[in-house]
Amino acid sequence: MGTRTTLAGGGNEPPGKSFMEREAAVLAGERLLRTREEAARLREEAAVVREAALRTREEAARARTGRNASVESRLREANERLVVATVNSQNLTEVAEQSAARMSYMAEHDFLTGLPNRSLLTDRLTQSIALAQRHSKKVALMFMDLDHFKHINDTLGHAVGDQLLQSVAKRLQACVRGSDTVSRQGGDEFVVLLTEVEQAQDAALTAEKLIESMVEPHHIDGHRLLTTLSVGICLYPDDGKDAEAVVKNADTAMYHAKKNGRNNYQRFTSDMNARAVKRQSVEDALGHALDRQEFVLHYQPKVNIKSGAITGAEALLRWQRANHPLVFPTEFVRIAEDCGLILPIGKWVLRESCRQMAAWLKDGLDIGQISVNVSAVEFHDQNFLGDVHAILNDTGLNPRHLELELTESVLIRNAEPATAALHALRSLGVQIAIDDFGTGYSSLSYLRRFPINTLKVDQSFVRDSDCEAGEAIISAIIAMGESLKLKVVAEGVETLQQLTVLESRRCPEGQGFLFSRPVAAEAFAALAATGVLTAH
Ligand code: C2E
Ligand code: MG
Ligand code: MG
Repeated sequence: MGTRTTLAGGGNEPPGKSFMEREAAVLAGERLLRTREEAARLREEAAVVREAALRTREEAARARTGRNASVESRLREANERLVVATVNSQNLTEVAEQSAARMSYMAEHDFLTGLPNRSLLTDRLTQSIALAQRHSKKVALMFMDLDHFKHINDTLGHAVGDQLLQSVAKRLQACVRGSDTVSRQGGDEFVVLLTEVEQAQDAALTAEKLIESMVEPHHIDGHRLLTTLSVGICLYPDDGKDAEAVVKNADTAMYHAKKNGRNNYQRFTSDMNARAVKRQSVEDALGHALDRQEFVLHYQPKVNIKSGAITGAEALLRWQRANHPLVFPTEFVRIAEDCGLILPIGKWVLRESCRQMAAWLKDGLDIGQISVNVSAVEFHDQNFLGDVHAILNDTGLNPRHLELELTESVLIRNAEPATAALHALRSLGVQIAIDDFGTGYSSLSYLRRFPINTLKVDQSFVRDSDCEAGEAIISAIIAMGESLKLKVVAEGVETLQQLTVLESRRCPEGQGFLFSRPVAAEAFAALAATGVLTAH
């Protein structure tokens, strides 16, 4: 997202162009070429005819004194051919003019939606800025992107995706004045340009209107499709001093709208750039973190609520950067996922967790299971199963001691391959837990479909367990787990009151600061050696 092509770039083919669009553009290009060839042929023909007619006229003039019959008939013939040639050349001019108009339209409009394209928008933005400067007005540029469009394209096909884009284009156009521009940048990206804006609030109102326009489903090919928008707003001259800055900052603001949970709008602020710079520096440092051996794992016990016995440990990643306080995963795992570094990092986590667990077992410390968090990028990587297999082999850890924690969204995305991968892991003997359960789809059908062993109730429910609604949700999840024969672990247990509720609802296991914070391997071993953890 950070490296999105800018308007000024212009020349590149938008990466999201569908097959149908590309085909249509090729066909239109071929049609234009044929028209041009035909026009050139007709022009040549007309020139030959004119030349012949002129020659005959000259001959006639030379023989004018004789005025014989043959010269007169040639003169008539020449005149007729001259008329035909004139009509032909008239037609040719019209064809050539139409082609030129069509070519210039195509150069400035998106084929699929008929909306102005990137290059026309750039022109209009430059003009609007010049006008706004003269009239002391503002210009608003809004970058927007359809949330999860790729999913629709992937599951229902490009033809449905294309129709959805056309339907979205119409709704966006209906939200703005005739003097404003709705443009398609390619893929699922649209840009709205509001000219002569009086105050920032006007742009915010339009953004709300655009988001609101997506509330009703799009009915396409018998499908009822719902989509939402993430919108980034940048105002000239407040947030950007020229067209290039306005485009870049609107894009940055849109990125923040996405990060902010999608289906919302964000106006650009200067600290967004500061955050982008910080993010880049984290990404650069992450690239060296493995080589410099800056990662460590901390372990947090899972506890049998009734007996207090340790039933396992969750391995949690920490980054010990030189001259930095300990960095927690919420600050870097997402960045590592975005730039692909999570693959080597995740592999290190898995290897180190298995190595540590095998070492504890060798020392006679059996804590049951080691749980390792696996993110979507890792789970869907084609080498993942092979890596798990190899790491278990290399470390000599019995697979029954390993549990992988996945979130619901990891499984729902690409459900078919996910099911196959889960079955393969289960047949190896590895256990599967659903992490942060209740925050995603929580659908009963996938609970039955996927071979799962454990549900980890999300911390937010445990935190709310002292209110009636929170308690009801916890009870429902525990009952669900019981009936599906799944182990249930309550995450984030912090208070005795929460523990009492969990106990009264017969929640089998818990994890949280009340029992122990995540600690380094040696501290964990000392803790586990005591066997039973009492709440403190
Ligand atoms: P998670 O898997 O849900 O892990 C539980 C998080 O809750 C941990 O945060 C843990 O320190 C924290 N926690 C435990 N007990 C309590 C409590 O009583 N109160 C509160 N407020 N928090 C508690 P942490 O270590 O910062 O990890 C955050 C998330 O980062 C994890 O959530 C997991 O999704 C991700 N993560 C951690 N390690 C890894 C890793 O090795 N790989 C990947 N892909 N993700 C990881
Ligand atoms: Mg976890
Ligand atoms: Mg969790």
